[in-house]
Amino acid sequence: MTILSPPRPDLTEASPFRLFRIEVAEVWRLSRHLVRITFTGPELSAMTSGGLDQRVKMIFPLPEQSEPVVPSGTRPYQALRELPPEIRPKLRSYTVRAHRPERGEFDVDFVLHGDIGPASAFAGRAKPGDRLVVYAPNAECPASRRSGVEFRLDALRGSALLVGDETALPAIGGILTALPVGVRAAVYVEIPDASDAQHLASAADVEVHWLPRGDRRPGAVLLPAIRAASLLGGDRYAWLAGESAMVTSVRRHLLDERGFDRAAVTFMGYWRYGRSEDEPRD
Ligand SMILES: Cc1cc2nc3c(=O)[nH]c(=O)nc-3n(C[C@H](O)[C@H](O)[C@H](O)COP(=O)(O)OP(=O)(O)OC[C@H]3O[C@@H](n4cnc5c(N)ncnc54)[C@H](O)[C@@H]3O)c2cc1C
Repeated sequence: MTILSPPRPDLTEASPFRLFRIEVAEVWRLSRHLVRITFTGPELSAMTSGGLDQRVKMIFPLPEQSEPVVPSGTRPYQALRELPPEIRPKLRSYTVRAHRPERGEFDVDFVLHGDIGPASAFAGRAKPGDRLVVYAPNAECPASRRSGVEFRLDALRGSALLVGDETALPAIGGILTALPVGVRAAVYVEIPDASDAQHLASAADVEVHWLPRGDRRPGAVLLPAIRAASLLGGDRYAWLAGESAMVTSVRRHLLDERGFDRAAVTFMGYWRYGRSEDEPRD
């Protein structure tokens, strides 16, 4: 097989998201199933972030590549998806856990779920100097300010309910950091085991329920916990993310049995049990 060497594209056009070449600066093992990776790169002075649950696309090289092949042109993301499969890099959605623009750095917390997925396999072996590309908000484009942020801080009037699994923990951490004094928030997080709990800083009045899953299926502990919970009253807003079937079930429960207003529930399937992100969505 011919391996093409990565071209050096012009990644600088002013669209809301753009590609940035990055490399691993530091790797921190947070717990048994979570690793925090700090990324850096000279191009990151032109990256911005809306905070909260800001999503980006991490672009991983194939095993035989030292960095991902990324195309040039005016629509690099579309062009990426059209590359021939033998050189097309793997794309996965992740959350910016922290962004330090003054240092040209950002952090992503990866769940380690084994070598069965390219993202988790990368995170499990990452070392300083490893090269990736990220598709992230472009500071040079004013329209990028809220791109890829789903939590509606402006819609929050009373209390917030945050529900997720370990893949949603980085987003929950980012949301709690941004909640102002005076807001009440209830957080329910299903985690693989108790060691994956972490300190979550916030100025808001927050109660956090850690729900270790053990060997059970995703959602097996969280769903009964939500059903049994006495949820905060008043003007409520809910944000749900994690395994798709779990998110669908929690949303249905909130709408059908807890009287949540449909417009006040933001929900995202972050991953699908037993299915890779390379497989098409239904
Ligand atoms: C907007 C958004 C933000 C996200 N933010 C984060 C984040 O900050 N941190 C994070 O870790 N994830 C996050 N995710 C989830 C992440 O994109 C998925 O878990 C993704 O599938 C991981 O890719 P992979 O290459 O490791 O596995 P894939 O190749 O996609 O899947 C391979 C196999 O692993 C299984 N699998 C995938 N993820 C998990 C998991 N977490 N636990 C157990 N089995 C799994 C799949 O069901 C499949 O069987 C986010 C997703 C979205 C949509």
